[in-house]
Amino acid sequence: MNISERISQISDSPTLAMGAKAREMKQAGLDVISMSIGEPDFPTPAHVKQAVKDAVDADMSHYGAIPGIIGLRRAAAKYMSSFVEQSGAEDTFAAEDIIVSVGAKQALCNAIETIVGDGDEVILPTPCWGSYAEMVKLAGGVPVIVHTTYDNDFLLTPAALEAAITPRTRLLVICSPNNPTGSVYSAEDIRTLAEILLRRPNVAVLADEIYNQICYSGTCATWASQTALLDRLVVVNGVSKVFAMTGYRIGWLACKNKEFIRACTRMQGQQITCATMVAQYAAQQALEGDLTCVREMTEAFRRRRELIVRLAKDIPGWKVREPKGTFYLFPDVTALFGKYAPADSNYTKKHNSSLINSADELCEYLLLDSLVVCVSGSAFGEPSCMRLSYACSQQQITEGLQRIHAAILRLK
Ligand code: PLP
Repeated sequence: MNISERISQISDSPTLAMGAKAREMKQAGLDVISMSIGEPDFPTPAHVKQAVKDAVDADMSHYGAIPGIIGLRRAAAKYMSSFVEQSGAEDTFAAEDIIVSVGAKQALCNAIETIVGDGDEVILPTPCWGSYAEMVKLAGGVPVIVHTTYDNDFLLTPAALEAAITPRTRLLVICSPNNPTGSVYSAEDIRTLAEILLRRPNVAVLADEIYNQICYSGTCATWASQTALLDRLVVVNGVSKVFAMTGYRIGWLACKNKEFIRACTRMQGQQITCATMVAQYAAQQALEGDLTCVREMTEAFRRRRELIVRLAKDIPGWKVREPKGTFYLFPDVTALFGKYAPADSNYTKKHNSSLINSADELCEYLLLDSLVVCVSGSAFGEPSCMRLSYACSQQQITEGLQRIHAAILRLK
């Protein structure tokens, strides 16, 4: 069968691949510690689970409206508006500005497909989540990678943004708090980037704020505070990360531009009809219910962050920045390139060579010889770093980091 040129160009998700590898090794009986996947280990809050049961009993088993059930759209608009209000801006979201989709991933994909055409350029500051570039390629667009640096906390500078814009630029995709770096753009950072964009009316902004509640300094700034940009701004959020509901697959986008909402709804109608009804109802209850569970999970992530940063700072050859949001640590490991794994290591036996010269190779060594699963920074466009997810227990973090530490001490 023919596989289209467009799909042939798309890569597999390296984080999902590492997650699958960890599952496979666990099933084979190995004592694996998985620090690869961006998925909270907490159970979904009890009142949300109850909501699913209620929705099943209420026969929410039929097709629904394309952009989502009205209750969830209202709840999502209120939720997103609360972040706008916290930022001091006044232009908040209404239900009609929201399209609910199958996870934030589909909301991002929808937005990119709606805005980007063949040959259009999309600016992606890296390190960033690997799916953005693949989504842009799926839409026929051209990812324009703009590297950010460790020394600037991996934040896009106004000068770098300005330099990347060409007459073909249609979109900037920006994620804060950022996966994989944990960096967070301040209100001032966002304002200065927005100033550049105000002079470039053909460039829209897709702000991925899926981790916005997992922000260790308190409130996280939102792009939706940029009132003058609202007509070409799409903000994405969802319940996966913050409410521990990854498997429910509910996310949404918010946009004040009615033409965009109409076009995007049309496309979603042809693709999926609507997101799963019972899951939408559960997501509505999550947003409308008591948010203490979210605060508790974020506090647990904060304790885990302190632990992982403390342990990681002791590891030789690692340069460690404290993440300001998310549940990812992204150490620079270049000082270890050029070292050799022990001759009797599984890594050496597999490769017939002991040399470790990249983050990919380091991650493979740690996987084979300490059974800790991490993801190489190359999956995010930054091959000098690696990503560890600390959405796992303190005990797993301690054990995982001890194993990594011991394995790195064995390098020569
Ligand atoms: N955006 C970022 C930055 C992510 O890291 C992820 C998941 O890893 C998503 C979006 C997708 O979220 P969802 O699971 O709701 O599709």
